[in-house]
Amino acid sequence: MQDTRVVTRVGLAEQVRARLQERIMDQDLAPGARLNIDALAREMAVSTTPLREALAGLCARGLVRNEAYLGFTVAPMPDQAFLRDLYETRLRLEPWLAAQAAPRITPQAITRLRDCLADMGAHVRRGPWQTHRTHAAADEAFHGIIAEASGNEPARQALTALNAQVHASRLYMKAQQGAEETAREHEAIVAALWGHDAAAAEAAMAHHLTASRERLAP
Ligand SMILES: [Zn+2]
Repeated sequence: MQDTRVVTRVGLAEQVRARLQERIMDQDLAPGARLNIDALAREMAVSTTPLREALAGLCARGLVRNEAYLGFTVAPMPDQAFLRDLYETRLRLEPWLAAQAAPRITPQAITRLRDCLADMGAHVRRGPWQTHRTHAAADEAFHGIIAEASGNEPARQALTALNAQVHASRLYMKAQQGAEETAREHEAIVAALWGHDAAAAEAAMAHHLTASRERLAP
């Protein structure tokens, strides 16, 4: 039998996490701001237990920091050096994963990738996090499915831990051009994977990441 109390508590922490993430993404909670647990708990009418769990979840996503003496603070906005390092890491990891995925990709995985593209096409990547997050989640899922299809579980986990979408989204919230280019780049990746062409998949992924980095910081 399921313990409903646990389910409810986990559900609450998740709701608090989503609400706080929205406030951080929309800069209603500013980068660098200190997060006072008692004040936030009062404000959100929850106890400190789900709030602490929510903050731990946001720390894992790289949106909140927990430092000695300072306590919890909103992570600073990704700067140029951070972006450079993030994309350099992705460029080393993801084209290689795409090449690994190409010979072994299944029709089911291709269908899931196409579903992600449809979701991205149907949702804008601009404005408040409420409207933006479906697009970001679909983009994250797209890259995750390719990593999963590579069959390399440690590499898939490493990619997840980068939280690349969350970091990029903080910048995309301001201005986003190139939705059509992004869609074309994603489609080229799917076509190469579906053709089981490892070299083309690797090149298409490298091109997408280079172009996407350029769009964030031209
Ligand atoms: Zn992408």
